[in-house]
Amino acid sequence: MAIRVTFWGVRGSIPTPGPTTVKYGGNTACLELRFGAEERLIIIDAGSGIRELGGAILAKDLKRGPIDTKIFLTHTHWDHIMGFPFFTPIYIKNTKLEVFGPVSYEEDSLDSVVGGQLQYKYFPVTVGQLEADIHYSRLRETEMDLDGGVKVTTKYLNHPITVLGYKFEYQGKVFCTAYDHEPFSNIFDVSPDNPSYNEEAVREGALAAKEENDKVEAFFSGADLLVHDSQYTQKEYMKDKKGWGHSSFEWAIVSANRARVKHLVLFHHEPMRSDDELEKVYCDLIKKLKVKKVTMKVSLAQEGTSIEV
Ligand SMILES: [Zn+2]
Ligand SMILES: [Zn+2]
Repeated sequence: MAIRVTFWGVRGSIPTPGPTTVKYGGNTACLELRFGAEERLIIIDAGSGIRELGGAILAKDLKRGPIDTKIFLTHTHWDHIMGFPFFTPIYIKNTKLEVFGPVSYEEDSLDSVVGGQLQYKYFPVTVGQLEADIHYSRLRETEMDLDGGVKVTTKYLNHPITVLGYKFEYQGKVFCTAYDHEPFSNIFDVSPDNPSYNEEAVREGALAAKEENDKVEAFFSGADLLVHDSQYTQKEYMKDKKGWGHSSFEWAIVSANRARVKHLVLFHHEPMRSDDELEKVYCDLIKKLKVKKVTMKVSLAQEGTSIEV
């Protein structure tokens, strides 16, 4: 094993505990990455799933010495940071934690957006009471060497606020994320009856959207494992979800397949969708894939499961 990814939270927007989400899980985004034989730990996103991950880390890693890890946030929407105050390692002395992520507004710091949840009006513990040594770093599109042979590359995606996709490379294996993200679309694409219609703008808009989508596909091209947004069905997306910052199952599959991804994991499940409904959408899609001869492996992200590459 080079990289092992464990899903602690797979749901979009808001936690959805209850009998209809037991199988795939009701926690919001959190992924545990382990690298190599030493099982070096890196975390992506601090949604509600990070609470349970915190417990697992205490049970496993603390025995080997103080916790020293990094959290990479895709963005600061609440479903991706809400679990941070419940991540137990931040209350433990000698924990060293680096939090990386983008911010959308120049006047904001990552520290105030994420750590700012720890103040009395929201939570019974304040930042000053934390025992861990926490350091925040703002990220843009970049490439970083994380030592020990781990490299991370970031890519801006398409969402109402700044979102980064992550690409981790280790021992020749590639793991990528592309959520929360929707395909770029042609902003000039209006009907010819519309007074603002401009044929050249429509053409240029289509080209610009394609270029941006090509860049995202180049980013995860050939990945061994890709975790991609798939909150909606294509029908739901076209009806009234355009511009909300999420992809359809169909887009995730078409895009990943075009980029020759080896294994696509559909992620950021719609909170309104039950396990049964999710499986139905998935099974219908898989049947269509066979007809279209798509050979890429496609699975649904499921809380409590791991995938190794
Ligand atoms: Zn989200
Ligand atoms: Zn979001």
